[in-house]
Amino acid sequence: MDEHLVYAIPLRNRFRGITVREGVLLRGPAGWGEFCPFADYDDRESAPWLAAAVEASELGWPAPVRDRVEVNTTVPVVGAEAAYEMVAASGCRTAKVKVADPRASIVEDCERVAAVRDALGPGGAIRVDANTAWDVDTAVKAIRELDRAAGGLEYVEQPCPSIDELAAVRRKVDVRIAADESIRRAEDPLRVAVANAADVAVIKVAPLGGVRRALEVAEAAGLPCVVSSAVETSVGLAAGLALAGALPELEFACGLGTMSLLTDDTTSHSLSPVDGYLPVPRQAPEPDRAADTAADEATTKAWLDRLRRVEGQQ
Ligand SMILES: [Mg+2]
Repeated sequence: MDEHLVYAIPLRNRFRGITVREGVLLRGPAGWGEFCPFADYDDRESAPWLAAAVEASELGWPAPVRDRVEVNTTVPVVGAEAAYEMVAASGCRTAKVKVADPRASIVEDCERVAAVRDALGPGGAIRVDANTAWDVDTAVKAIRELDRAAGGLEYVEQPCPSIDELAAVRRKVDVRIAADESIRRAEDPLRVAVANAADVAVIKVAPLGGVRRALEVAEAAGLPCVVSSAVETSVGLAAGLALAGALPELEFACGLGTMSLLTDDTTSHSLSPVDGYLPVPRQAPEPDRAADTAADEATTKAWLDRLRRVEGQQ
C-alpha cells in the first residue's frame, strides 16, 4: 500500500458549503493519520492539520483514561421530517442541529429542532450550532425562539463571530454558550480568553495541531470541553476519540458521531456510534477501503501538491 492515499467521498447532505469530503491519509511507524483541511484553510492555517496527521502516524497518542465516549448525532440543514428520521435512526441521546444557514429561515430552524425533540424525547439533549452567523441582537432573539421550540437547549455553539459578542449574548440569555471558531481559528489557541465569554469549549484535534496540543488548549481554556470532528473519515476520527479518551473530565457528549454525514469510509472498521457511544481506539483503523474511496487523478495531484506545500513551510 502507498504511503499517501488521497480519498474523495461524497457527503449525504451539503455541509459547510461542500458536497464531497477530500483528504490524504499518511502512513508512519505509529500507523495512519489523516490530513484534510477544508478548502478555506490556507497553507499556513493547514499546518496544524498536518501536525495532527504526523502525530498520529509517527508518535501515536497519549494513554486514555476511559474506553468509550458518548457522542451526539449531527443534523445538517434538512427539513423537519428528515431531521426526525436521522435522529431516530442514530441511537444517540444528544443531537447537534445546524441552524442559521442562509438557505433556511428561523421558522424552519425552529421546526427542525422541534422535530429533533420529538425524536429524542424529553430525556435527550439538543445543542445548536450557528457557526458565527448572527449579530448580538439576532442571536438573543433566535436563541430564545430555538430554546422554546426545542423544549430547552443544552447549549448554543458560536452564535456570533467575536469573543466580545459571545460574552454579550451570554449575559442576555439563559442558554449556555459554546466557543468553537473562537478557539479553532484563534491566532494562538493557547492564549485565547474564552472563560468569560463561554460555558463550554469545543475542541478539534486537526485545527489545533494534534491530541497533545488540544489537551493543552483544553487546560488553558479552563472550561468543560466537547471534542468535535472535522468530518474526517474514521482514520481522522480515531484521533478525536483519542483526545476525548484522554481528557481528564468529559461532561458532555462529543461531536464525533459524524460518519453518518459521509456516504462511505476509507476503512471497513468504521467508527459509527452504537447506542450513542464510540470506543476509544489505541490507533487509527487500517484504511483497507482506500481503493474504493480513491480520488481521481487531478484531485490526487492537487492534494499531494497541497501536502508538499504545507510540509515545505514547517
Ligand atoms: Mg461548530
